[in-house]
Amino acid sequence: MRDDHQEEHEMPILWQAKGIAEARFTSRPEWSTAGESMWMRLSKFSLCNRLTLHELSNLVLLPPKEIPTDGVDLRRADRFDPARLGDLLQISPTDVTTAFCYSTPGLTNASTELRYCRECLQQGFHAAWFQWRFIVRCPLHQRALRLGCPGCTRPIQYSLQGNMAEYPLVCARCGKQWVPDLHLPAGRCTPISGRSARILRRWQAYVAESTTRLSKLSLRQHDPQTGQFVAAQRNRAASIRRTAHLRMSNRLYDTPPPTIPELLARRPRPSTDPLGPKPDLPEPGRHRFSQMNWPHFTQRFLELESTLLQFQDAFFGHTLRNIDMPAWSTLCRQQFAIATDAVSIETVTAVGWHLSWLGFVRTCDRVHRLSTPALGLSGWLAHSPDRPLAIAYAEWTDQLIVWLQEDLTTSAWIWHRLASFMRPHKSYLLHPALARPAELAAWRSSQPYRHSIAAKPPQNLAIKGISLPARLDYFTSIMRQPLD
Ligand SMILES: [Zn+2]
Ligand SMILES: [Zn+2]
Repeated sequence: MRDDHQEEHEMPILWQAKGIAEARFTSRPEWSTAGESMWMRLSKFSLCNRLTLHELSNLVLLPPKEIPTDGVDLRRADRFDPARLGDLLQISPTDVTTAFCYSTPGLTNASTELRYCRECLQQGFHAAWFQWRFIVRCPLHQRALRLGCPGCTRPIQYSLQGNMAEYPLVCARCGKQWVPDLHLPAGRCTPISGRSARILRRWQAYVAESTTRLSKLSLRQHDPQTGQFVAAQRNRAASIRRTAHLRMSNRLYDTPPPTIPELLARRPRPSTDPLGPKPDLPEPGRHRFSQMNWPHFTQRFLELESTLLQFQDAFFGHTLRNIDMPAWSTLCRQQFAIATDAVSIETVTAVGWHLSWLGFVRTCDRVHRLSTPALGLSGWLAHSPDRPLAIAYAEWTDQLIVWLQEDLTTSAWIWHRLASFMRPHKSYLLHPALARPAELAAWRSSQPYRHSIAAKPPQNLAIKGISLPARLDYFTSIMRQPLD
C-alpha cells in the first residue's frame, strides 16, 4: 500500500503486480554481513539480476528517478527509497540505514571514491564507514584502506552509475574481478561472523555516533578567539581537524575506545549524591586569565572557572608538576599520543582532564597558563541547558555550579576509564575530543529538565566548595569502580 502514490505517479510497468515483480529478483542476503555498504549490496544485487542502470534506478530511487551523469551519490540515503531497498535486498531497516554514511550530510569528509580494504573486498565485504577519510585502516586485517581498482588503480566511483549495472564488481577498464569467488560458476560469498563481525559492529556504531555528534555540536560552535557563537564551518580543513581523534583511534586501537554516551550509561553516582563529599566553605580560585583581554567572559564565567580551579587543586594537585619534561614534549609533538610505558595511569587521567577543560595551551605551556580562559569550560557553558524564564539569573548560576561540579568529577572518571581501555595497547591517546566537556553539557541538555534544585531555598544551593579530604576519598572510590 505504501507505494500507491508513487505507482500512480509514474506508470509503473514493473510494479503492476507488485508481489510477483519483487519475486522476480534474486537477492542473496546470506551473502552479506551486517553493516555492509549500499555500494556492495547493490553491486551484488546487480550481479545476480543483470539489470540495466535504468531498471536498477527505477527500483531503488525516490522520484525523480533520473540519474545525473556522475551517478547517484551512495554516501547519502536521501535519494533512495528505504522501504523498497529493504524489500528488494531482504534486509532490516537498520541494515538499510547503516549501509549509508549519512541521511543528510553534516561533516563532509566521506569519500566519493570507493575506499576499501583489499582483503575485505576480496571476501565481498565493504562497510559504509570505510568511506570516511578519518578511517585509515581496516581493524580486521590491520591494512591501510586503499583507493582505485586493485588491478589498474583507476578510481572506483562511490555512486550508483553505469558501471555498477554493466560491470558489477569488475573493473570496466582492466577487467580485474574484485570479488573473485562471486564470478565463479555457482560462486558465493561468506559473511563475516564471530569476533570479527563484533569488531565491525563496534566500529560502525562508534563512527555513526561520533559523526552524528560532531555534526550536532558544530551547529552551536563557539569561536575560541572571541567566545561568540559562530556559524558551523563546513570546509574540509575544519572537518579534518575535528575528526583527528577518530583517525588516531582507528590507527592505534583494533576496537574503538568507549564513547561518552556508553560511559555515561554506566557511570557511578554523581558527587552531589548524599554519599558523596559534603559542601565546604567557598575558597577563592588560585588565578585566572586577565579579564581585560577577554571582556565577553562574564562574571558568571569567572565564578564557574573558580569552581574548576578549586576542583583542579583538590583532585589533581601536584600530579602534572611531576610529569617529566621528555614525556611532556613527546605528548605535545605526537598528536596527543604517548607510549603506555612512559607515564602512569594517574598522570594520564590528569593530563586528559586538563586538556579537556583547560585546553591545550593552558595545559602544556605552563609558563603562560594564565593567558586564556578555560576553553573546555566555555564549550561546556555553551552547551548547558538554557535558563528557564521562571528561574532568576543568580539562582541559575548556582544550578550551573552544582552541575559543573558533577561534570568535573564525571570527566575525571571518564578519562580514567579511557586510560584503562588504552593501557593494554602501545599508546595512550589523550586527544581532548575523546571527552569534551561540551558533550557532558549537551547530554544534560538532552535530558528532561528537573526543577528540584530551583524549588529549594537558595542557601542550600551555594555548594561552592567541597572539602579536599572528602573529594579525594570519593575520587579514589569511584576510580576503583570497574567498567563492567
Ligand atoms: Zn579488512
Ligand atoms: Zn582496473
